Amino acid sequence: MKLSRQFTVFGSAIFCVVIFSLYLMLDRGHLDYPRGPRQEGSFPQGQLSILQEKIDHLERLLAENNEIISNIRDSVINLSESVEDGPKGAPGNASHGSAHLSSHLALQADPKDCLFASRSGSQHPDVQMLDVYDLIPFDNPDGGVWKQGFDIKYEADEWDSEPLQVFVVPHSHNDPGWLKTFNDYFRDKTQYIFNNMVLKLKEDSRRKFMWSEISYLAKWWDMIDIPKKEAVKSLLQGGQLEIVTGGWVMPDEATPHYFALIDQLIEGHQWLEKNLGVKPRSGWSIDPFGHSPTMAYLLKRAGFSHMLIQRVHYAVKKHFSLQKTLEFFWRQNWDLGSVTDIMCHMMPFYSYDIPHTCGPDPKICCQFDFKRLPGGRYGCPWGVPPEAISPGNVQSRAQMLLDQYRKKSKLFRTKVVLAPLGDDFRFNEYTEWDLQYRNYEQLFNYMNSQPHLKVKIQFGTLSDYFDALEKAAAKKSGQSLFPILSGDFFTYADRDDHYWSGYFTSRPFYKRMDRIMESRLRTAEILYHLALKQAQKYQINKFLSSPHYTTLTEARRNLGLFQHHDAITGTSKDWVVVDYGTRLLQSLNSLDKIIGDSAFLLILKDKKMYQSHPSDTFLKMDMRQSSQDSLPRKNTIQLSAREPRYLVVYNPFEQERDSVVSVCVNSASVKVLTDSGNPVEAQVSAVWNDEKSISQTAYEVSFLAHIPPLGLKVYKLLESQSSSSHLADYFLYNNDGVVENGIFHVKKMVYAKEAIAVENSFLALWFDRSGLLEKVKMKEDNKYHEIKVQFLWYGTTNKRDRSGAYLFLPDGQGQPYVSLRQPSVRVTRGRIYSEITSFFDHVTHKVRLYNTQGIEGQSMEVSNIVDIRSVHNYEIVMRISSKINSQNRFYTDLNGYQIQPRRMMSKLPLQANVYPMSTMAYIQDTEHRLSLLAAQSLGVSSMASGQIEVFMDRRLMQDDNRGLGQGVHDNKVTANLFRILLEKRNGVNLEEEKKSSVNYPSLLSHMTSSFLNHPFLPMILKAEPSSPTFKMLSEFPLLQSSLPCDIHLVNLRTIQSKVAKGYSDEAALILHRKGFDCQFSSPGLGLSCSTTQGKMSVPKVFNQFAVESLIPSSLSLMHTPPEARNMTEIKLSPMEISTFRIRLR
Ligand SMILES: [Zn+2]
Repeated sequence: MKLSRQFTVFGSAIFCVVIFSLYLMLDRGHLDYPRGPRQEGSFPQGQLSILQEKIDHLERLLAENNEIISNIRDSVINLSESVEDGPKGAPGNASHGSAHLSSHLALQADPKDCLFASRSGSQHPDVQMLDVYDLIPFDNPDGGVWKQGFDIKYEADEWDSEPLQVFVVPHSHNDPGWLKTFNDYFRDKTQYIFNNMVLKLKEDSRRKFMWSEISYLAKWWDMIDIPKKEAVKSLLQGGQLEIVTGGWVMPDEATPHYFALIDQLIEGHQWLEKNLGVKPRSGWSIDPFGHSPTMAYLLKRAGFSHMLIQRVHYAVKKHFSLQKTLEFFWRQNWDLGSVTDIMCHMMPFYSYDIPHTCGPDPKICCQFDFKRLPGGRYGCPWGVPPEAISPGNVQSRAQMLLDQYRKKSKLFRTKVVLAPLGDDFRFNEYTEWDLQYRNYEQLFNYMNSQPHLKVKIQFGTLSDYFDALEKAAAKKSGQSLFPILSGDFFTYADRDDHYWSGYFTSRPFYKRMDRIMESRLRTAEILYHLALKQAQKYQINKFLSSPHYTTLTEARRNLGLFQHHDAITGTSKDWVVVDYGTRLLQSLNSLDKIIGDSAFLLILKDKKMYQSHPSDTFLKMDMRQSSQDSLPRKNTIQLSAREPRYLVVYNPFEQERDSVVSVCVNSASVKVLTDSGNPVEAQVSAVWNDEKSISQTAYEVSFLAHIPPLGLKVYKLLESQSSSSHLADYFLYNNDGVVENGIFHVKKMVYAKEAIAVENSFLALWFDRSGLLEKVKMKEDNKYHEIKVQFLWYGTTNKRDRSGAYLFLPDGQGQPYVSLRQPSVRVTRGRIYSEITSFFDHVTHKVRLYNTQGIEGQSMEVSNIVDIRSVHNYEIVMRISSKINSQNRFYTDLNGYQIQPRRMMSKLPLQANVYPMSTMAYIQDTEHRLSLLAAQSLGVSSMASGQIEVFMDRRLMQDDNRGLGQGVHDNKVTANLFRILLEKRNGVNLEEEKKSSVNYPSLLSHMTSSFLNHPFLPMILKAEPSSPTFKMLSEFPLLQSSLPCDIHLVNLRTIQSKVAKGYSDEAALILHRKGFDCQFSSPGLGLSCSTTQGKMSVPKVFNQFAVESLIPSSLSLMHTPPEARNMTEIKLSPMEISTFRIRLR
């Protein structure tokens, strides 16, 4: 009780400080308000508006004040509660109103919220992939006809009591872009597949077919007539045609972020709901190069009960075949129960083509691919061609095929066999339909008519197979027949030492562009939906609701298309890459317009003043990418001394945030003001044209913005000689040719004795003569850490098979990057940030430290501009080396969703130890964790204890024999963006951690990652003599207050209308509760949010928007739970991603 009183006193003290500082702020507001007559309007009116603004300002302060008081009250209550529960660390809870408060209070997560991470790992599935890798020898012996497997034997009477049940499943694998563009494939192949499907399936109701890529189906649908549409519907109803997965594409599973994986799934499922009314229930992923448990989780959450995967390491397939674990319940590593279990079938053999799907012997199976009959264009590479089935040979051919099916069935636990029948772009010619179906029908007729064969064979779809499998399994045993498996299936190898770890990095330019597009799409979705609601409320007809919804849909589809396993992977032809890039760029530009128009409506004071133009917007993004293969550039804002330029900055994150905003202006004499006229401390830095020359026309102004959650906030930029801005200073090493512009202090350091160093209140960094990081001091405990950054090259082997778009086949260990000349180094020192820039021949490497108190100052930002267009057969890597005793363990994320522990295995070749990283990788020992956070997907590894390395670009001159038929040498000047975060750990049990198959980032790490993936978006208000003057709100938070620290608003996605074209009244609110680890020394430092055990009161979420209804839904909106009803409180479990249908007013 005594303690709780102390906290009350503490709370009151904070309260007093807040009141006092508010008083000061108000007072300053008076002093700093622009004096003299205003330029526009008559004098009294100007005064009136000033008065109005002051009242607004006061009101806002009052509201903030109330909130601060209620927060303090809450925190005091929380504290006294937790004091009663037992002692705990630093005091605090969220403060929503003040940047100062938020940055100085060290907050802590609710102790109950820390339990999840500490409990995880206590689960023991039957099969843990990390353990499987210990068991497998990876010796690759010759297995005979099944080269990567073994000889399969069976007894003739094995099916006497229960016959073999075979499902032959015809399918066609259609890549939405690879060797041809999406449109060209459609024109040349896919449309004929659909057309023939309608004709040929109708001929016999026993014929079946499967489809998965909705991007193609939707394109075809738009050009066919109603009878054809009806025919498709009746095929679906009759079960002859099944839609499997039903995403916009069959996405890659290594490089996409879960935002985009979900989005393309929703896009596909929404299309199906509207046009066909079908709900897929089985997942079909036969071509992605390795498989992620994130995909299994998303399918489960979307309501799927089964899934199939194919490209898994050949040695794993063999091991699973021996153990009969090819069919399993896939459970998430982090799942403490069994809620994430989904039935998964792993195909046992080398490929999904017909030679590798009927059984172990491709020489036999190939003879049952009747497209390869003699006389056609295709043959069988194993030397024996197929024979057309006739009464004369049907007995022997049936025997031969049945032998393969029986052998295949020996690898599984039931007597149901799945025999896929298809390949890339198959069934495009009607002759193929006849050849395949007619020959198989004869074989079926024969087999089914011979009781002694003990077989029942038919065409089927994937769900037909799974249904039969479930029935058979239910008959067989009381408890589940199938094992539980946890873990992932990276890194894939299809043969020998051919590991598919190259594509984690291939075409990194577009991997970065993809991530920018994701953040932009999310922003456009959220702002559009809320603007739409305001437009409806205030009857603003000028808001382009329908055209914007159309472009939004196109953007969803272009992003969806890019998640395809030959798009984001960087494994398509050069011109197909250009096609994807052009689509992304077009959508980026159109999203900028939606964002500008929507933000403008939301921030306008008088909504009736809203104006819009079809081709222009009043709020313009400050960045622009001019072509699909160039880096985005900042626009230069033209300032004047008379009229301020208005900057509207959007915080796309669901927590209030302090972050540095940098924009380009045309004068070094620039003043930054808040909307109410308070000056904001700013840094003016030079814009460098290149290594040596400073721009005479553009300057960068940077300031710390404090913006509420999903908030828009107005700042003013004014040209002013009496500016409070601070010029950055420059110190140059090994650089003699610099042309100065007379404004900045530029000092040439010829023989500098002191080391190059920068620091802020959290960190001090030291660099070597090349500007590469050497040493870090954490000010938390004043300890020094040797953390070195270096660059390396990997070459490619001189054996027959060499690295290409898919494969990484290095010539040995990475070799240190050697620059022909000592790189020049530029040190920038400023009030807001300091940075070191080194100019190497192939990389411009920049390390920046922000001088801010919040989260942004606690890590260093690293950006690399990579240009390897002058080299041949090299891959460039950034390696971070430290004294952290990580041994052979490291951690990488999967799809930005979860962390997968990894082990560097010396029994595997180097390239097998490279893994995909979407957002982060880290190493740790009992005392520290060193994280590399990323703003794009790339390949990553830890080749030795204490190291993390990331692949930045690769240039390979040859094909790697996986069908692409070219190297990857269309390299661009590519930007990679990272943050390096060093954290002190507390109370770690190393032995337990070594055994555990699960690990979590800290809250700080999650937040730091969000700075990279969802940065502030500055927009500039158009100012032309002709444009009208608009009054804007000083700020407009879309949320009432920050969401809990661990809850991420994945999307607020306007749902399509079920009947008409366009949008409905509802949106899909997608939320993710992140898992996090609390065992760090200052886990809450700089956070301005708290955790709530996953609870959120919905009516209080949105600011100025009432929640009319909120109904839980499956992830992709296909299903509504039977017990679903309108709810007011959301409760999410740790790691859960959930979708709700929300209706706002
Ligand atoms: Zn494919």
